[in-house]
Amino acid sequence: MRVMAQLAMVMNLDKCIGCHTCSVTCKQAWTNRAGVEYVWFNNVETRPGQGYPRTYQDQERWKGGWELNRRGRLRLKAGGRLRKLLTIFANPLMPSIQDYYEPWTYDYDRLFSAPATQDTPVARPRSLISGEPTKITWSANWDDNLAGDPSPDPVLRKVSDQVKLEFERAFMFYLPRICEHCLNPSCVASCPSGAMYKRSEDGIVLVDQDRCRGWRMCVTGCPYKKVYFNHRTGKAEKCTMCYPRVEVGIPTVCSETCVGRLRYLGLILYDADRVAEAASVQDEKDLYEAQRGVMLDPHDPEVIAAARAEGIPDDWLEAARSSPIHKLIFEYGVALPLHPEYRTMPMVWYIPPLSPVVDVLAGTGHDGEDAGNLFGAIDALRIPIGYLAELFTAGDPAPVRGVLQRLAAMRSYMRRLNLGQKADESIATAVGMTGP
Ligand code: SF4
Ligand code: SF4
Repeated sequence: MRVMAQLAMVMNLDKCIGCHTCSVTCKQAWTNRAGVEYVWFNNVETRPGQGYPRTYQDQERWKGGWELNRRGRLRLKAGGRLRKLLTIFANPLMPSIQDYYEPWTYDYDRLFSAPATQDTPVARPRSLISGEPTKITWSANWDDNLAGDPSPDPVLRKVSDQVKLEFERAFMFYLPRICEHCLNPSCVASCPSGAMYKRSEDGIVLVDQDRCRGWRMCVTGCPYKKVYFNHRTGKAEKCTMCYPRVEVGIPTVCSETCVGRLRYLGLILYDADRVAEAASVQDEKDLYEAQRGVMLDPHDPEVIAAARAEGIPDDWLEAARSSPIHKLIFEYGVALPLHPEYRTMPMVWYIPPLSPVVDVLAGTGHDGEDAGNLFGAIDALRIPIGYLAELFTAGDPAPVRGVLQRLAAMRSYMRRLNLGQKADESIATAVGMTGP
């Protein structure tokens, strides 16, 4: 066992209101510069929708010349040298500026000088990069109005035959995303210059700006498309997990400013010797459990001794023991990884949204706020379990159903207590919980 520490995040999707405060404050702190106008280290995308950058989940589109080797590491597909050179120099598999959507601003002087028209604003949008007038055709949240139309969303397209998209089942929710600071980061594996690296002390993945040569293989290699190219400096940039802040004990900008208070930040311990094996598990449906399996119990004396032997300080071990991340993933069992089938072992996990019951399907006569009924009617939730499973468990509905049942039980239990009623212990015990 080789114990390592990792800074990780869990986001509770039920609490995200899509206000984009996290994105804006992150941008002000980290990408408020020339060359990265189009970049959002933190973005909040609409689900269902195309995501940001557009269609990043369409892995066939981006896979190109990459494959996993036997150790679960990303490498260029076997082939002649010429092919490898062509892949490196041409690198045709990056999103275009249209996929990120072109950033625009307004000629605010014209707000006052332009003649009145029927449309507002009267000033034409212009590109923030070229300054030229632009016709905006798409941005990351234009999907808000689709409400379950499977056509633009590669994940929903996959499950659309299971999901009857009638009016009663129209749904949407927000998915905030940052770099996953993966345990098996394909951006690091794909960098020819050795500029991308994973910090050994806390697992934060960074770009050494002095070593980066602008190959952009990391942009191609990251399945979450969370590395960006600064077209002014010619270097790659990405989310730094706000390391200058966390090193002095303050949270990331996105966590601190989140209006919904939905971002939990904390340390976990994991067994570095088991990462490659877990990343290369054959059956995709086993990947969620495999990824959970590399995490270690910070209360286990054997783990504590091994961690000390690796030089992890005692106050870090204490932080891991009191970490909300460990509790949410293991004790409460309500957090799931995003797209474990990408096999990079992401370290930003999500509590899936517990949407209301669609009563036309459940036939309960309840609106879903009575969670006692919700617990029984878990398959009649507005957001189809199949869709959440494609996002969080490589299509396996069983773990998602278990998480939603636990969330429903917690809601029911606490709701009764808050209303001054007697808590129903049977609901808690039915999902293996002993109390609030
Ligand atoms: Fe690298 Fe992408 Fe994983 Fe971030 S999400 S660590 S950029 S592979
Ligand atoms: Fe969601 Fe919080 Fe970001 Fe607002 S600040 S969009 S609530 S994650």
